[in-house]
Amino acid sequence: MSLFENQLNSKLFSCLTIDVEDWFHILDSPAAPSIERWSSLESRIERNLEMLLEVLDSLSVKATFFWLGWLAERHKDLVRKCQKAGHEIASHGYSHVLVYEVGEKLFRQDIIRSKAILEDIIGEAVIGFRSAGFGITQETPWALNAIMESGFLYDSSIFPASHGHGGILNSPFKPFFVETQSGYLLEVPLSAIDIFGWRTSFFGGGHLRAANKLMIKWGIDKLQASGRPLVVYIHPREIDPDHPRLPLNLLRRFKCYVNLKSTLPKLKWLCEHYSFYTMLGMIENYIRSFYLERKTIPIVHLQSSHAASEPSPTLSEQTSVASSEASRSRHLAVDKAVANFLSPGILRSHRSSQYKAQG
Ligand SMILES: [Zn+2]
Repeated sequence: MSLFENQLNSKLFSCLTIDVEDWFHILDSPAAPSIERWSSLESRIERNLEMLLEVLDSLSVKATFFWLGWLAERHKDLVRKCQKAGHEIASHGYSHVLVYEVGEKLFRQDIIRSKAILEDIIGEAVIGFRSAGFGITQETPWALNAIMESGFLYDSSIFPASHGHGGILNSPFKPFFVETQSGYLLEVPLSAIDIFGWRTSFFGGGHLRAANKLMIKWGIDKLQASGRPLVVYIHPREIDPDHPRLPLNLLRRFKCYVNLKSTLPKLKWLCEHYSFYTMLGMIENYIRSFYLERKTIPIVHLQSSHAASEPSPTLSEQTSVASSEASRSRHLAVDKAVANFLSPGILRSHRSSQYKAQG
């Protein structure tokens, strides 16, 4: 099917994403083990990921796997198996740290390390990133700059609704370019809908597990009617209802463990009823549709730096340009960013050779 022969078709804007981490990679709880203890804990990633790969293969679905670098360096064959099966390999950072807790320097080190490890394993560029816990907030716009400077071309960390670890309540629902100091980073926010002014999601993690199929279908209809992408996300532990439990508080126990048995049936149901792409595949469909309709992807400007003395606002829609010269150079830069996603050859050569994998 040639996309150029079709009008904007929201059914092409669905992607399945897997945040590859183990059952003990729970954020922000005193009950969660520190990284020094991870190696001593039972690993269930191999079993769960093999099962996921089998399910996706049987349904002919390709997904994007946002790998945690710490796990990837211990399961290199499994990373390659995902790649061989036609899935996209992207980064979920190295040690599952929250952006707003570690600060800019450690965040940069963490994501550069994960990118280098993954690229050494698969021998190809890794251009997609998702932060732990969707932890990019209004207070940490510098993270988007760091992601771009580390060699990623797209980010999928912004949750445009309230979220336990992050969430930007006034962020656009649809993909947009972020104007960073080193170029235009494409942001693909997680899917959310607005119900009488209340933003929520039914499309991943605990949200997907807590919602029933009717609610999920209603939400997807709403997304598609407004031309917004459907970004589904799950974790391998969520298809493993028997995984060990951490002694979390009541609220976190609910969020982490509610309806675990429903994840796999819901995933199969979604794959049978919707056409999923990798995130990169979905981005390509999305950008081509804009190109066809002669529309432009919105640009959001990073207004302030991370300096504590500079208060918010931090992200704001670009409404005016200083001069026609500035306007021309901005258009050229955006065109270049768009072209990146339409030219796989350019993507493959984007590998950041200046960084070497550690450990
Ligand atoms: Zn995670």
